Parts: sequence; C-alpha cells; structure tokens
Amino acid sequence: MVLKKAVFIDRDGTLNHDPGFINRPEDFSFYEGAVKALKDISALGFKIFIVTNQSGLGRGYIKESDLAKVHDKIYAELKKNGIGISDILVCPHLPEDRCLCRKPSPYMVKNAADKHEISLPDSFFIGDRESDIRTGKNAGCKTILVLTGNGRETLKKCGVKPDFVVEAIKDAVTILGA
Ligand SMILES: [Mg+2]
Ligand SMILES: [Zn+2]
Repeated sequence: MVLKKAVFIDRDGTLNHDPGFINRPEDFSFYEGAVKALKDISALGFKIFIVTNQSGLGRGYIKESDLAKVHDKIYAELKKNGIGISDILVCPHLPEDRCLCRKPSPYMVKNAADKHEISLPDSFFIGDRESDIRTGKNAGCKTILVLTGNGRETLKKCGVKPDFVVEAIKDAVTILGA
C-alpha cells in the first residue's frame, strides 16, 4: 500500500480573513489567491484537510448549525472551482477543557492520517500561529508559517522554528511542489 501525502491547513488567518468568531457564511471570505492555491496543492497530489480550533463553539458564541453553514460555504466554493477537500477537522473545546484534540495537539492530524492512509513525514502543516507550527511538528509533518492573520506576530516570538516561512498561502505552493 502506498501512503498518500496531505497538506493540513489552519482556517482563520491562513485561508481566510479573520474578523473574530465567524458564525455567518457572509462573514467568511478567502484571502486573495487562496482558492487557486488549494487548486494547485490538489493538482500536486496532496489531500487537503482544514484543521481548526473553534473555541467559540464551547463558549457558546457559535452554534454548531452556524459553523456547519460556514463550512458548507467553504465546500461549495471549492467545489465550484473543481477542488475537493478531504475533511474539515474542528476542535470545539476551550483551552481549559484540556481536551485531546485542541491544537497544538496532533490528535486530529494523526487520526486523519490513520483514516486516510497518509504519510505524515511527506505531509505539511500550514498556519499562522505557533500552535499550528507545534501541531505540525508534534504530528511529524513539515511546517510552513504564513505571515497573514497572526503570522507576523508569530514570527517575532515563535518558540519553535517553522521549516518554511511564506507571505501567504499562495506562496506555499512552490515549496510543496519542490
Ligand atoms: Mg489561524
Ligand atoms: Zn478539543
């Protein structure tokens, strides 16, 4: 059996503008070039997963049904562009819940890798926060920090070194294709 490779991507601040808790589809918008980037990543033979902490669920700021609508919009917009993604993995908990899944835990990534037969050393994690870079490292993936969202702040004080740093998700494609 040949294992597949994947790109695990943070949502807010990496793929889309981050205005805070997003609980309406109209508040979700991809960064310029993000959809094209996903298309290119897919064409390179990577499976795509979105991996997101949504503590707004646990805090009661976001209803599950609203999050589902936001994610339906993501799936629909990508489908319209001929892009299929494998899954959107969500941790709904608060930090103080001490759950298994919240990033920087590699739990969601490792679970997905088992389920979809993915080789983690051949895979990447892309995100704008230290917790994203740590998740990737904890899972044994290569890591890419984007400077969108919280990325510039993260670069200044990141306690762990990402393998690559790029301006935005669209600039990650050349690294994945190398
Ligand atoms: Mg983020
Ligand atoms: Zn969790």
